[in-house]
Amino acid sequence: MIKLMKNTSLGILFICMTTIISGYSIAQEEQTLREKMAQKSEIWEPVPMVVSAPDGQPPSDAIILFNGKDLSGWLALKGGEAPWFVQNGSFMVKPGSGDIKTKQSFCDIQLHMEWKTPTDVEGLQGQQRNNSGIFLQQRYEIQVLDSYNNPTYANGQAASVYKQSIPLANVMRPAGQWQYYDIIYTGPRFNGKALSEPAYVTVLHNGVLVQNHVEIQGKTEWIGAPSYKAHECAPLQLQDHGNQVSFRNVWVRELKSKSE
Ligand code: MG
Repeated sequence: MIKLMKNTSLGILFICMTTIISGYSIAQEEQTLREKMAQKSEIWEPVPMVVSAPDGQPPSDAIILFNGKDLSGWLALKGGEAPWFVQNGSFMVKPGSGDIKTKQSFCDIQLHMEWKTPTDVEGLQGQQRNNSGIFLQQRYEIQVLDSYNNPTYANGQAASVYKQSIPLANVMRPAGQWQYYDIIYTGPRFNGKALSEPAYVTVLHNGVLVQNHVEIQGKTEWIGAPSYKAHECAPLQLQDHGNQVSFRNVWVRELKSKSE
């Protein structure tokens, strides 16, 4: 009797073990199958390039457009060396000397630029209160202006795409404080003389999104509607609007489009 019970117990144990093992192997098979299915949507190439970006420093692949000492990367629009003032690790508009432009031409870029307007605002209002600007590819202006408690037309205030797109917020710090723009710009594409794809721009002002992938309508115009005229890659240009606006820590990263 005891022997029979022993055999029965062993039998039950055997059946249990077999059930557990076969259940386990089915689960394993299912897992392997799921892993294989998951692998079908994995993409391993191209492997993203390695860029180091230490805190407070430009990324390792950035082109430094101002080294804090001289304007060797810039030219006067009128020709010759850039005549703007360089002092204390920044540079400043020399009113009346004209715009300056980078020696290098750019297509699609990420641009970082810090800027500061003077504290002396006595009698200066609207567009006259310390105006400058960044002309992407020498044509499309992102406005630089003291827009701290300084009403003007909204599509002409700081961080506007001048006369085209009102910024999503006024993030202006008081005059005399450094501001910064981070700009992601995709230049227009042309098929011969015809526009095939407009330019787009995203702007962060002091880290706040103010232009979100905005379509640029054409070359910046003070009067009248903007329009496109075919062009190649072109320099960045900074505006002399007659005010002592300062800049520092200017760098760009050249962006490659997906088709390149
Ligand atoms: Mg301007």
